[in-house]
Amino acid sequence: MAHMDFHSLTSLDETLEKLAAYGSDATLVAGGTSARYLIMSGQVEAKAVLHIERLAEFAGITLNGGARLGALTNMRDIAEDTAIIARFASLATAAGKCGGWQTQSIATIGGNVCGASPSADLIAPLLVQDAEIELHSQARGSRTVALTDFLVAAYKTDRAADEMATAFHLPAQPGESADTYIKIQRRSAMERPIIGVALRLALDESGENIREVRIAVCGAGPMPFRASEAETLLAGQAPTDEAVRAASDAIIKRSTFRDDARASASYRAAVLPRAFAHALSLCRATIAGA
Ligand SMILES: Cc1cc2nc3c(=O)[nH]c(=O)nc-3n(C[C@H](O)[C@H](O)[C@H](O)COP(=O)(O)OP(=O)(O)OC[C@H]3O[C@@H](n4cnc5c(N)ncnc54)[C@H](O)[C@@H]3O)c2cc1C
Repeated sequence: MAHMDFHSLTSLDETLEKLAAYGSDATLVAGGTSARYLIMSGQVEAKAVLHIERLAEFAGITLNGGARLGALTNMRDIAEDTAIIARFASLATAAGKCGGWQTQSIATIGGNVCGASPSADLIAPLLVQDAEIELHSQARGSRTVALTDFLVAAYKTDRAADEMATAFHLPAQPGESADTYIKIQRRSAMERPIIGVALRLALDESGENIREVRIAVCGAGPMPFRASEAETLLAGQAPTDEAVRAASDAIIKRSTFRDDARASASYRAAVLPRAFAHALSLCRATIAGA
């Protein structure tokens, strides 16, 4: 492996200065649970490693109408936060299923999203909250982008080489709504999902019809996606078997399945409708019990 400069950083200014100086020759390392492998295997070649794990100001959760999560907040802190469990259950669930507890104790939300893996667990739950990501650079200050626009392709984001992701903003969610995350994985595995489905459901006053549903899927294409066609089909409808089947078909149509070491394409296609139907019934039960 070629020589690399290593910088252990403790402030945003210092980090942005290094990012500005090295540009695309730098790689950021937060928890390092993905980055370390990418560097050691030669998939990432960088002149400088910028270690940002000690930027404590970007680790933590603040509640407003919604929530702000610092990019360096780790999975355990998200999974165990009572407010996140109450308001953004899908995110807490996904964080609590992201690898084993050792991985969760160091893996960050920023690393999960900026790695932009097709099967990153946190992306689908963030998509159903209409989350935004905040980025900082020395040259241009801060900007906030909708996560749907930030994710460009598999392993590719809209992050410029001189930017660091600093936070995620989750807006307040509609009343009478619930969200959940279903992760299909190999039994007892502490690894990425075969399929992941996040869903946020809001019912109308009657409690019978869907006011709004947001559906996001990972593991069913080159990048996690919002299943907007299925969302439109269900809006204003009663969730009858027929309506749920039509929505399922729309999700499948939008998906591209492939075989990999974890599962076959046909298994993924078979399990996705079941995961979706299960997510819908869990959200309905939560709203009914609220
Ligand atoms: C044993 C094991 C099990 C795993 N299981 C799962 C799983 O079940 N589900 C899952 O989704 N993932 C899993 N992963 C992958 C990984 O742990 C997660 O994606 C994790 O969230 C990455 O966070 P990190 O802080 O370690 O990121 P890092 O490895 O430090 O970085 C990942 C990428 O994001 C970039 N980056 C990090 N922080 C920032 C930032 N603030 N701004 C801009 N860019 C940034 C880095 O440059 C790098 O490209 C697993 C990994 C291991 C080793």
